[in-house]
Amino acid sequence: MKVFKSKHTLVETLGHYRAQGKTIGLVPTMGMLHKGHLSLVSKAVEENDLAVCSIFVNPTQFNNKEDFDKYPKNIDADLELLNGVGCDVVFIPDQEQMYPDGASGEDFDFGDLTKNMEGKFRPGHFSGVAAIVKRLTSLVKPDRSYYGEKDYQQLLVVKSLFQKMGFKGEVIGCDILREKCGLAMSSRNERLSEGDKRKACFLYECLSDARDLLFRSEPKAVEAEIKSRFLLKPEFELEYFVIADEQTLKPLNHGDLSRARIFTAAHLSGVRLIDNLKV
Ligand code: AMP
Repeated sequence: MKVFKSKHTLVETLGHYRAQGKTIGLVPTMGMLHKGHLSLVSKAVEENDLAVCSIFVNPTQFNNKEDFDKYPKNIDADLELLNGVGCDVVFIPDQEQMYPDGASGEDFDFGDLTKNMEGKFRPGHFSGVAAIVKRLTSLVKPDRSYYGEKDYQQLLVVKSLFQKMGFKGEVIGCDILREKCGLAMSSRNERLSEGDKRKACFLYECLSDARDLLFRSEPKAVEAEIKSRFLLKPEFELEYFVIADEQTLKPLNHGDLSRARIFTAAHLSGVRLIDNLKV
């Protein structure tokens, strides 16, 4: 496994592989890797000649400085895990490599896709995501890029960015990996105590109960029922619990469940958790 810190050596090396007709798969991450990330990397290893994983905690996508400062890191463990699943190339740039002109805002407009949920509660977040995805994709020029459905709104934003920028590679959405109780695996879970991790399973309980309830009640009534359950759990600060069309991300008011997906975000002990579930 090769590790690069410089974008110039990365681009040069990948160029040699591309010239030999080899395909490249890219998995962008912010590190503190877990089985969810590794499932994306394994897919990239399987489906391409060369699997590239990037590790970069991207400052422009954080609208909360404390969240950025406290983002967990463990590069040595990450490298060991990546080596274990057969990753070929790891790119670990610093801020100067990715933002030589300073990490100032580049504005992107994704229309209705970013009006709700993460777009609403994290102003500027998706412009930051788009800025880093654009830069990484331009460097690596992947044939396939792998993004988790854990960040479902991000996945749609990345697909839209690829269209806007005319990037040729395929964007592949990957299933969410969960703990036994249903809690979505996340680097941020590392900041929860064991007790809080058990409490956090409540989020998945709500998503799966909502899915069942949707077969009997209208989406708005289901949202109201689940929100009332959060009132009985004062340890959670709920940001949103939304049932939406999974292609447009517009709230679903009634009827057709074939494109319905349930989205939630909540704070627990100062840690922001997000999850979603297809109906
Ligand atoms: P992050 O390091 O949080 O930016 O995540 C890097 C990539 O891994 C993103 O495409 C995420 O959607 C994906 N990812 C994070 N957690 C999971 C999970 N539990 N299951 C599958 N993919 C995930």
